[in-house]
Amino acid sequence: MTNHIFGRSTKGSLPVATAGDGCYLIDATGKRYLDGSGGAAVSCLGHSNAAVRAALHDQLDRVAFAHTGFFTSDPAEQLADTLVAHAPEGIERVYLVSGGSEAVEASLKLARQYFLEIGQPQRHRVIARRQSYHGNTLGALATGGNEWRRAQFAPMLVETTHISPCYEYRDRAEDESVEAYGLRVADELEAEIQRLGPDSVMAFVAEPVVGATAGAVPAVPGYLKRIREICDRHGVLLILDEVMCGMGRTGHLFACQEDGVAPDMITIAKGLGAGYQPIGALLVQGRIYDAIAKGSGFFQHGHTYMGHAMAAAAANAVLGEILNRDLLTRVREQGAKLDAKLRSSLGQHPHVGDIRGRGLFRGVELVADRTTKEPFDPARKLNARIKAEAFANGLICYPMGGTIDGQRGDHVLLAPPFIIEDSQIDDLVSILTHAIDTALA
Ligand code: PMP
Repeated sequence: MTNHIFGRSTKGSLPVATAGDGCYLIDATGKRYLDGSGGAAVSCLGHSNAAVRAALHDQLDRVAFAHTGFFTSDPAEQLADTLVAHAPEGIERVYLVSGGSEAVEASLKLARQYFLEIGQPQRHRVIARRQSYHGNTLGALATGGNEWRRAQFAPMLVETTHISPCYEYRDRAEDESVEAYGLRVADELEAEIQRLGPDSVMAFVAEPVVGATAGAVPAVPGYLKRIREICDRHGVLLILDEVMCGMGRTGHLFACQEDGVAPDMITIAKGLGAGYQPIGALLVQGRIYDAIAKGSGFFQHGHTYMGHAMAAAAANAVLGEILNRDLLTRVREQGAKLDAKLRSSLGQHPHVGDIRGRGLFRGVELVADRTTKEPFDPARKLNARIKAEAFANGLICYPMGGTIDGQRGDHVLLAPPFIIEDSQIDDLVSILTHAIDTALA
């Protein structure tokens, strides 16, 4: 095979994926891999979904691409209708893009334009959280809270300040109730807004359940409600990034629905196309859109492939599967089984500090010492070893380092397809347990 592609795919020699079968990917040698992380929380319906394939064939026979400067399409209109019908209160408009970073980038620019339209041009500052990931384009990278990812691009990034994430395992004091902890950590936003000057702050951006960088760390009850109150008090827009945790992954179509919070904007991607097409979306409160419609009338942004008919057709089929087959209930049921299985196999493990998450979005944090929560030395590259060992034994999982501060801390993120069977949950946990033990040996 030629070797002209650069990026991750040229690191070492990778197997060639040639087929997909439900929860499995199959390589050119016929080896089957159980997809325990859906790639990175992408393949929510597995790899050979009949409804999505049929919808794509059907749309391909009609039209694949018609530029949004000239046309709309039935799939794009239908997709926006379905998203609005199921979104949190007040969400009325949808901006279609091709992925997660594009959705985050669009949210920042829309927020800025909104404040210009309503006569508050001084608002431009963004507050986000440490240990978050919001994408790799410059605006999204600036928003993300991982120092080492940003470091070499720092001179090119818009200044964003970062407050503490809601990370109960590491930060809640023993004598502090969960509720008190949630309010305390949320109140860092109030302090940061005051420090920056309330009239200069444009938006606060956060993942309701932190995915890749922290390993499925959910907001504790009450945290996001307090965040919503603080944003409202100061006229700051609340942007929730559900690129990873949205589209049913946590057992609700939107993760924030479990927290009872309606943000001003929501970003989604990954599970929306379920890996069948690249697609993302920015969901927006009606009043934000209205301000722009009544003002300049035009959002100064846009990408060539936005609203792509094939991508929208795939997303409609994905949403159809999730809603019509009641997969949200299934996510909650299979998620509870995955959690129970993880706890029975790893709950007493001397190097497992925390097992957490919601629905089929779970994280296992590894520690050198369970009592002190001391992390492993990053030089051990534990996450890379777990990944390689699991992969060799036919499991795709998503181990990452830097859980605590971007450098130290190891976790494994799990996000299997919603169709995962009980026996596959058993296999997943047993291969993972073996991989952790082998990597630690
Ligand atoms: N936001 C979050 C929460 C993500 O997890 C990701 C991707 N891991 C992104 C944004 C960026 O999405 P994409 O890779 O599709 O650009």
